[in-house]
Amino acid sequence: MTPQEEFQTLLQQATEHLRYYRELGITHFGESFETTAESLTQIAVPPVSVELPVAENAEPALPTLLNPSSMPDKKSTTEATPLFGEAPFGGMSSTVPELQFADDNLDNIRADLGDCQRCKLWKTRTNIVFGEGNPKAELMIVGEAPGADEDASGRPFVGRAGQLLTKMIEAIQFSREDVYIANILKSRPPDNRNPEADETKACIPFLYRQIAVIRPKLIVTLGNPATQGLLDTKVGITKLRGEFQEYPRLPGIKVMPTFHPAYLLRSPDKKREAWEDLKKVRAFLRGE
Ligand code: SF4
Repeated sequence: MTPQEEFQTLLQQATEHLRYYRELGITHFGESFETTAESLTQIAVPPVSVELPVAENAEPALPTLLNPSSMPDKKSTTEATPLFGEAPFGGMSSTVPELQFADDNLDNIRADLGDCQRCKLWKTRTNIVFGEGNPKAELMIVGEAPGADEDASGRPFVGRAGQLLTKMIEAIQFSREDVYIANILKSRPPDNRNPEADETKACIPFLYRQIAVIRPKLIVTLGNPATQGLLDTKVGITKLRGEFQEYPRLPGIKVMPTFHPAYLLRSPDKKREAWEDLKKVRAFLRGE
């Protein structure tokens, strides 16, 4: 790769990250990231033609990204447990781990999550359920929150509903190891109640990061809270299920809402509809 091509690749990656954070509502990254569009022209690099999405109130971090000597070492990053700063997601410190911008990965995300106390659910959980599966999965499956079995084991979807989910995955000729499974919340709500707004707000940024790192082709959302949380909508699962949606935070990722397996256990007559949804998933991933 020529220096020009390498720079263009870096610039495109940086541009994508900036767009992602802007879509999350983050336009200020603190003093260590501050620069101006004018300063971008002062970097000694070969000329390339890339359109930068520099919003009026956004302060791109490109010089920091493109200069490895200004990157923090891994240790200092993993010690910075706060995620995005306090402005958009209340309760967190304003420190932003810089590696997120250029080199995020699942280990970093788990380290940033730490022994999380960003919402009240930490008081009643046993284990954080981060998610598991293929870090390069084409298919991600997102539920709402861990239940009792998951809370006890620290793994997603291992109870009765999880066993049905495994059968659903295998029915479309995948295995659990092929896909990545996660939840909107990483701690169990008491009595398996639905996630509350402040809990989702505190926790969902970690899922956004997991999705951004894994870059699946398709996300299957299970049930109302997962679907509404990921699609930023109040439309119910009954209306959305079975139709491909666009993941609003990254272009090119589809979302297929379907029923939660726990609901299917209670309402087995709905399995036929869920199967229709899964057949669409299978056809999509086969390129049919
Ligand atoms: S649900 Fe998420 S934000 Fe709340 S304590 Fe657990 S890991 Fe932290």
